[in-house]
Amino acid sequence: QPVVVAIDGPSGSGKSSVSRAVARHFGYGYLDTGAMYRAVTVYCLRQGIDLSDADAVVAAAEELPLGLGADPDDPAVTLDEEDIAAAIRTSEVSAVVSAVATNLGVRAVLQDAQRELIDAIAEDWGGVVAEGRDITTVVAPDADVRVLLTASEEARLARRSTELHGSADEAAVAATHDQIVRRDRDDSTVSQFTEAADGVVLLDTSALDFDGSVGALVEIVTA
Ligand code: C5P
Repeated sequence: QPVVVAIDGPSGSGKSSVSRAVARHFGYGYLDTGAMYRAVTVYCLRQGIDLSDADAVVAAAEELPLGLGADPDDPAVTLDEEDIAAAIRTSEVSAVVSAVATNLGVRAVLQDAQRELIDAIAEDWGGVVAEGRDITTVVAPDADVRVLLTASEEARLARRSTELHGSADEAAVAATHDQIVRRDRDDSTVSQFTEAADGVVLLDTSALDFDGSVGALVEIVTA
């Protein structure tokens, strides 16, 4: 029976890198659902679709020529075969992706696609680690393992700062602060991370480094 591991958490919780490492550890496939919201955003920007035109963005999500690789060592993201793995991570995309992620029609389309992907990847790989914001609650509430990764705002800021600016010194953290606070606020209509939903294991990674976080998660999956 293929194993489904669902992981949610806010940005800077270390979710993506930790999820990939856990998938690698068990030989499972990997699904980054945030990449799908980002891919819709890139597609709309390229097609000149106004992100505030809700219906047009839903139509874009429906026709999206998206390719996703499930290999945790190489999670490819393509649009019409073109590699957009770097394009979805630009600050330009990060700044506006919330407009897409708060579009309820888009969410319905992507959530359906995610359920199908989770089943298909789990079948292919013997298991899947799927991560996002609503995987434990909406997309895969019946997953075998459900974990909410949290971290103090301070820890999240330091991690994001190192990611974005290559350092966690005072200036870099200050530059990152605005971005994170704004994203959290923009996202808060669709995601609340103060408490884990019923049956979801809460893992606070504030005091853990990368290996410690991976180890703790591997233990939860094994238990
Ligand atoms: O995790 P990442 O930063 O790549 O997510 C990109 C955007 O998509 C964020 O605004 C996030 O809140 C949103 N998202 C979502 N539901 C998911 C995954 C991501 O709303 N399952």
